[in-house]
Amino acid sequence: MLADGAIRPDIGIMAIHHDHDHDVRTGASLMAAAERALVGSGEQWTAMRASVFAALSGFERPASAYDVTEAVSTAQGRRIAANSVYRILDLFVANNVATRVESANAYLANAHPGCLHDCIFLVCDICGRAAHVDDDQLSARIRETAAATGFRPEKPVVEVRGRCAECA
Ligand SMILES: [Zn+2]
Ligand SMILES: [Zn+2]
Ligand SMILES: [Zn+2]
Repeated sequence: MLADGAIRPDIGIMAIHHDHDHDVRTGASLMAAAERALVGSGEQWTAMRASVFAALSGFERPASAYDVTEAVSTAQGRRIAANSVYRILDLFVANNVATRVESANAYLANAHPGCLHDCIFLVCDICGRAAHVDDDQLSARIRETAAATGFRPEKPVVEVRGRCAECA
């Protein structure tokens, strides 16, 4: 578990106000955690889904469905239909295995597939990288504020545009 405000320098993710073991992973360990999360929600971890996740987690910045399709096609040495990649990415997002960066119209492998948060993305306008922070108190307040109007919030989308520490 990371202390409040601790930054993991390897992935630039900050955890704030966690009352649980925040399970952040990379590489093979992330791949295994994604498989566990998907299988745990009753979905199959097929060879195609594994390829899409491997391609997605290979990107340093949010990748469009098109980018992911290209990467999977290259890895497999054959043309993969964009539609099937779209469907798999949507399935990943629905099961917390990937996240969508709405303002970039792109996807990221979720570094904490076993751990549900309203991830807050920090999107760099210069290099396109997106770090993210998790602040459950902040996102709970957004949900409460929305709910107070009678609105039924499903998912807050909070993205901060700006310059990352390297580009600043
Ligand atoms: Zn967590
Ligand atoms: Zn998160
Ligand atoms: Zn940057």
